[in-house]
Amino acid sequence: MSRPKLPARANTSPGSSSRPESRQVSGGSGGGAKRRATEKVRKVKACLKCGESIEDGKWIQMDGAGVMCDRCWKNMYLPKCRRCNLVIEKQAVSSSDGQLKGKYHRDCFNCNTCHKPFPDREFYVFDGKPFCKYHYHEENNSLCAATLCGQPIEGPCAVAHNGDRYHPEHLTCEHPRCSEKLVDYWEVDGRMFCDKHAQGVDEDEDDNYPLSNQRDSMLRATKRRTRFIDLAGLGQTS
Ligand SMILES: [Zn+2]
Ligand SMILES: [Zn+2]
Ligand SMILES: [Zn+2]
Ligand SMILES: [Zn+2]
Ligand SMILES: [Zn+2]
Repeated sequence: MSRPKLPARANTSPGSSSRPESRQVSGGSGGGAKRRATEKVRKVKACLKCGESIEDGKWIQMDGAGVMCDRCWKNMYLPKCRRCNLVIEKQAVSSSDGQLKGKYHRDCFNCNTCHKPFPDREFYVFDGKPFCKYHYHEENNSLCAATLCGQPIEGPCAVAHNGDRYHPEHLTCEHPRCSEKLVDYWEVDGRMFCDKHAQGVDEDEDDNYPLSNQRDSMLRATKRRTRFIDLAGLGQTS
């Protein structure tokens, strides 16, 4: 499929010398822009698209007959920003490896959640939208569930019985003074314990420790096994 041929842009100058110069559609290089002599008799032109008469002197000659006003032409032929949906006239940003579809205004290209730009030009794609590392993992449910961590998991990942994801070294027994990593573990009322602490053995007599009744806690305990997955290289692009 070949792309449709874009019509050439054109400018006219307003007939009256007392009016300020109209802005050039194509930007130009400043004050010395070439201007066509206006020999034609002035005639009100109407836009093919919106039907309004063009009074700002900016119109584009279409293939065949007719002209289009500047606004309609831009709407039809210039790309639109995926964030704000407005026309992009210059400095469109797009993904260099094509993982992210579409184009963005430079100022609109940032994390979809925190709106911070990507200083090292590296970003993540989730659901077709760009994200910073942290917010990508928030969307992707791949932030470490350990309260003291909460950071993105890239690489080895331990998945608990309830689907929570952890850095493997952060999925540990929930007893306050235990740091045993859990592979086979016991779930008691939604909390996760090593063999020793699931049985309510607590020689330190911690008052806050809930599993004081051994028989009771073992009745409620369910044997669980950590699932290990690899989250390396997800969603990352530039
Ligand atoms: Zn128009
Ligand atoms: Zn935009
Ligand atoms: Zn962010
Ligand atoms: Zn962690
Ligand atoms: Zn323990």
